Amino acid sequence: MGKIPSISLPPMLSCPRHAPCFEDGRCYVIKHMKFSVVVRAFGKNFRIYNDDPERYFKQISGYLDFNEPEYFRFHVGGDIPCQDYYDRIVKLCCAHKKTKFMFMTKCYMDEHYIHWMKAKDYSIDPIMSNITLYPVPSNLSIIISSWPGYPIPPYLKAAFPIAYLEDGIEDRIPEDAHHCLKHCDECYFCWFAKEKKKDVVFHLH
Ligand code: SF4
Repeated sequence: MGKIPSISLPPMLSCPRHAPCFEDGRCYVIKHMKFSVVVRAFGKNFRIYNDDPERYFKQISGYLDFNEPEYFRFHVGGDIPCQDYYDRIVKLCCAHKKTKFMFMTKCYMDEHYIHWMKAKDYSIDPIMSNITLYPVPSNLSIIISSWPGYPIPPYLKAAFPIAYLEDGIEDRIPEDAHHCLKHCDECYFCWFAKEKKKDVVFHLH
């Protein structure tokens, strides 16, 4: 993340069980996880959270108190594993108003996907996710991470910017979407996507 501090969890273990990216082998984080230091760091983070959620968030909070970064990112790897985790993110954001936080998430791919995939009818109303992304502090930017061929729940599309993967097949990308071509510490778009009312596009590489 260059100059932007972040915390990550291990993909697959912390991701929703219907996330398609690791199932079809295109999770770019897993590619990086061949480096043992990354595996150890992400795994250690998850162990600390599972053993003692208070300690995990206190450590992040201590870092933020000391360094007061302008920007912080959750989950370069991994995702929100449960409602408790999201609720603690909200508290953390509220306690560190000088920092702008951001994460992308597929955590909505739980009950929707069981429901939709069973019915094979994506026009039926989605049921609510197991994880509710509410409330959203003013200094937190949430981006809903989509996947080609997988439906996006309308209520999330209405509330948050969407991240699309341009794989040559994805046909839902708005014309005015922002194309991710830089590094975060020279771009920062995703921290302001909602204010700019634009979605973001990642190109498959
Ligand atoms: S669009 Fe910019 S801020 Fe968003 S992920 Fe890409 S480089 Fe980072």
